[in-house]
Amino acid sequence: MRPGNKNINIVRHVGLITKADRNRLNRHDSGVIWFTGLSASGKSTIAHETEKRLFENRVRVYVFDGDNVRHGLNSDLGFSVQHRRENIRRIVEVAKLFVDAGFIVLTAFITPFEEQRKFVRKQFEGTKFLEVYVKCDVEECTRRDPKGLYKKALAGKIESYTGVSSPFEVPQNPDVILNTQKLSVEESEDRLLEFLRESKFLDVK
Ligand code: ADP
Repeated sequence: MRPGNKNINIVRHVGLITKADRNRLNRHDSGVIWFTGLSASGKSTIAHETEKRLFENRVRVYVFDGDNVRHGLNSDLGFSVQHRRENIRRIVEVAKLFVDAGFIVLTAFITPFEEQRKFVRKQFEGTKFLEVYVKCDVEECTRRDPKGLYKKALAGKIESYTGVSSPFEVPQNPDVILNTQKLSVEESEDRLLEFLRESKFLDVK
């Protein structure tokens, strides 16, 4: 059966414990912080450091990282437009389960197209959601190149590499912009945590 097909014999079961019950127990709301930006812009680094700081403050928090997901859940997917779309769709579905389970989910996926970002935001309507644009130009990302992937892509050894042979559309409506050419990792974390405090992101409704 293709994803999206409606099987009339599958009926959603409503549990006895709700998301609100879990959030009360945890003493914080659940939600999604969706990082978008070029490869090597700093999404994973900032997501993991922020996870650590939130965890130390007793927040149930978990990072979904692009490469890890592609090794497991989405190991059958490549980088065609359809597969990139399916990659995001599955991640969103798993993130929804984590949100229901009471977690703050931090995601570190390039999410290069505005259409994908709109889709993601829509999927989390009614849920605390932030789009964080980790801004860094392709020249600086190429200089950083922590995994040597820009080098390979520029040598023509990787097809459809975002920023080299596949576009990255500048986000039109991010909630937070972290310019990692100007901010240190710690300054980016501070700015994000400050935003969470000011917007009462973690406060239980
Ligand atoms: P992404 O998840 O966006 O692909 P990574 O976090 O894996 O990016 O890699 C970013 C690289 O850039 C890391 O090696 C990190 O140490 C480095 N870096 C240098 N300066 C910064 C900064 N100011 N903010 C974030 N990362 C930085």
